[in-house]
Amino acid sequence: MSKKVSLAKAPKTPKADKFQTPRGVHDVLPDDHAYFTVIKKIIRHRARQAGFRRISTPIFESKNLFIRSVGGQTDLIEKELYTFQTKKDGEEFALKPEGTAGIVRSFIQHGMNQLPQPVELFYIEPFFRHDRPQKGRYRQFHQFGFEVIGESDPGIDAQIIQVAHFIHQDLGIASKLKLQINTIGCSKCREKFTNQLRDYFIGKERNLCANCVRRLEENPLRILDCKGEDCQILASNAPKFENVICDECKDHHKKVLELLDSVDIEYNENPQLVRGLDYYSRTVFEFWDESEGAQNSVGGGGRYDGLVEQLGGNSTAACGYAGGMERIIAHMKDFRILAPDKDQIDVFVAQLGFEAKKVALQLLTALREEGVHALGALGKASMKDQLGKADKFNVKYALILGEVEVREGKVILRDMASGVQEVIPIGKSVEKVIKKLGKKSLDKYDPSKDLKKDRTVRPEEELLIRD
Ligand SMILES: [Zn+2]
Ligand SMILES: [Zn+2]
Repeated sequence: MSKKVSLAKAPKTPKADKFQTPRGVHDVLPDDHAYFTVIKKIIRHRARQAGFRRISTPIFESKNLFIRSVGGQTDLIEKELYTFQTKKDGEEFALKPEGTAGIVRSFIQHGMNQLPQPVELFYIEPFFRHDRPQKGRYRQFHQFGFEVIGESDPGIDAQIIQVAHFIHQDLGIASKLKLQINTIGCSKCREKFTNQLRDYFIGKERNLCANCVRRLEENPLRILDCKGEDCQILASNAPKFENVICDECKDHHKKVLELLDSVDIEYNENPQLVRGLDYYSRTVFEFWDESEGAQNSVGGGGRYDGLVEQLGGNSTAACGYAGGMERIIAHMKDFRILAPDKDQIDVFVAQLGFEAKKVALQLLTALREEGVHALGALGKASMKDQLGKADKFNVKYALILGEVEVREGKVILRDMASGVQEVIPIGKSVEKVIKKLGKKSLDKYDPSKDLKKDRTVRPEEELLIRD
């Protein structure tokens, strides 16, 4: 690791007007991309297994979409939404702060209710929130998520939780995470609960924070979610939802838990869990790092049975999950789980003189075509500098071409660890290197296996044939 070239610590330039990333956002440097790559691979694999297909929605959407879905009084909309207006007609847009709203908009816009139901979609996308920057929280962050739209059965809730759990298992962090689960009921039982809460908090405003006094009017449920100490103390004695919940919601929740039991997924029933967004109904869940509590949720989700209708579609049940990539990476690092480094360079080709450079380029091409990760110094550096560079890249072998070797059709093969060198014919060098590296380390990919030509006849071509 020590020999790795660090791009993070580029030499300081003396210029005064040095540009930096804006506060709260960050570059994903190559070392971290190794994590992103393996996480994406695992997500795609688990998604395919369970019948999810990938979707991407735009980075920005109409601001009203998020207000209508996430809820105008949530922190996310009030404080964290990045908005902008077009110069010409003043249309208001927002950078997407979460994935579900855009996907439901897309479901309605593309008439996906005509597809076989439920529609199962997944995404891996960047999102934007003007959050207070702190460890593991960024203003541009990446989430992956799963949405199942068009089915109300508790089996869907359990299945989504299971897919998330499998992904955590694959990533090696499952043992660190505990599923927190709760039901917040349907609109019917929640209305009843909201009224009871309002009755309870009215007259106790002096002990609530300013935000919660406002919430009391707009959405007393949010008070239960407040981090303020006094608010939490009051909330702990507030009416309990379990005394208000309707029979259908109670039955749904019981079945979700039984289904989780049947696939051996452990959970902690957490009546405090409400989630920060308005569109949830019935099941809500989060995966918490037990050692650090709610602030360290790596992801969560739940049912949003009312959202499709709320955004203008037909009444459609749905359930989803989203996980934070940066937080997952932080947990993997805490757990000392290394992402596979597939960027390792195996062979370095060093050369001196223009004739040698031509041969070096041919050798590099031949090596790469055979799947060997190969790098060459094609600049004018001295042989010593070139081999020094080979050392920095931690390569296993160097192929060295001087003018004499090229004239004689030879090349020096150097084992970088031992320093042992042998002179071999250029024509045999690729084969020899592959033998030494072993076939396992070859990185071969044949795109023609993936890409096929569509040979079906299109209607317009059919006409031509008939003419
Ligand atoms: Zn209910
Ligand atoms: Zn409060």
